[in-house]
Amino acid sequence: MDLHSGLPFWIAKNALYDYFNPLKRDIQVEIAIIGSGITGALVANELCDRGISCTVFDRRTASTGSTIASTAQLQYEIDVPLSQLIKDIGQEKAVAAYKASLQSITDLEQTFEKVGINPDFKRVPTLFLADSRKGFQLIKEEFTAREKYGLPVRFVDKKELKKEFNIDGRGALYNDTSAQMDSYKAATQLLEYRRKKKQLELYTHTEIIDFKKRESGYDLISSEGHFIRCKYVIIAAGFEAGRFLPKPLMKLESTYAVISQPVEETKLWQERCLIWNTANPYFYMRTTKDNRIIIGGEDVPFKDPIKRDKLIRSKKDQLIKQFNKLFPEIDFVADMTWCGTFSSTKDGLPLIGPYPKNDRMLFALGYGGNGITFSMIAAQMLVNCIEEKEDKRINLFELSRLM
Ligand SMILES: Cc1cc2nc3c(=O)[nH]c(=O)nc-3n(C[C@H](O)[C@H](O)[C@H](O)COP(=O)(O)OP(=O)(O)OC[C@H]3O[C@@H](n4cnc5c(N)ncnc54)[C@H](O)[C@@H]3O)c2cc1C
Repeated sequence: MDLHSGLPFWIAKNALYDYFNPLKRDIQVEIAIIGSGITGALVANELCDRGISCTVFDRRTASTGSTIASTAQLQYEIDVPLSQLIKDIGQEKAVAAYKASLQSITDLEQTFEKVGINPDFKRVPTLFLADSRKGFQLIKEEFTAREKYGLPVRFVDKKELKKEFNIDGRGALYNDTSAQMDSYKAATQLLEYRRKKKQLELYTHTEIIDFKKRESGYDLISSEGHFIRCKYVIIAAGFEAGRFLPKPLMKLESTYAVISQPVEETKLWQERCLIWNTANPYFYMRTTKDNRIIIGGEDVPFKDPIKRDKLIRSKKDQLIKQFNKLFPEIDFVADMTWCGTFSSTKDGLPLIGPYPKNDRMLFALGYGGNGITFSMIAAQMLVNCIEEKEDKRINLFELSRLM
């Protein structure tokens, strides 16, 4: 399946990581990672950092799955509001999931600093806008829950919203713990860094089509008929991971994004914060280093790539209409439009860990619209698992909760 179409900004902005290395023989490796997106790259980086060599396989050009389409807003806010998640899975687990997500933004920042790369990571605040009367009720409940459990949050009332952000609205929640980045640049630079240090091998244009379990690991089979013998296999195959899962655990959605031409810097809103709202599906926006505005949302259930792509024009118009309503004084001239697919689980949390328990097939599927914070969490958790170190986050994200 095509994971995206149209022209994602990041393809135009970055030089393609043009590395072509299909697997042409049978090999034996310690740890095989299927997928070279931001999840696979972070997992590989974490393994290398702890002195464990690994090999990444991707059926495409490196990191050109969902990662190249991502708008890469990094927020502690999971797709399911905390107040709702508490009702769904209980206070202890919901708060722990939110706190893990909050911590992962700092961990991402430190990961890039440690290896000396700069994927345009920038700290920016977030504004979560009430889009309706019902949305206002939600942010009030959400404020109470976040404040009670020690998550960073400030209530912005109608007056403050107008005065500070020049937005006409009912109210919003503000926090200054978020960030934004270029996830394609992050993934490709991490892979290149570890490859150059000879800690990582990368095979592109190599699809893994089957696998066989052995007593002490797995044999993977490529579409060209080559065998890969490994002690552990990590499934970071994003939304195409279905063939490795014991049963369907994900619901696929199509999502749309538009980027503007650069805008005069003085016209941009206060602190250039990430903005999203309480609508379902939600509407969101961010800016870029060169003063463009990215807007996105208009999610619909995914049927097939052709149906998804047919909607690009009308979704673009809808997104610009929503932007104009919020910021009528900013002239949004669309430059590029694209769409992509993402998936979510029943409870809105990712699938991270071995399945079955203690198996040597480990999953790192950072599902949902806020997937990248989960990718960071997955990298740490899976390496802890391989090193047999305790990681309490397994109780939140292990696959067996949905079986
Ligand atoms: C338009 C859009 C906007 C988004 N915005 C945000 C956002 O603002 N913030 C956020 O946190 N998240 C966002 N997301 C979600 C985020 O982009 C994803 O969670 C993240 O990119 C997933 O990365 P990944 O590495 O897990 O998957 P991918 O990038 O899809 O990588 C998986 C890789 O596995 C490879 N693969 C699959 N099957 C096989 C196989 N059998 N053999 C070999 N290789 C295989 C694929 O080719 C692919 O390269 C957005 C997504 C989209 C589409």
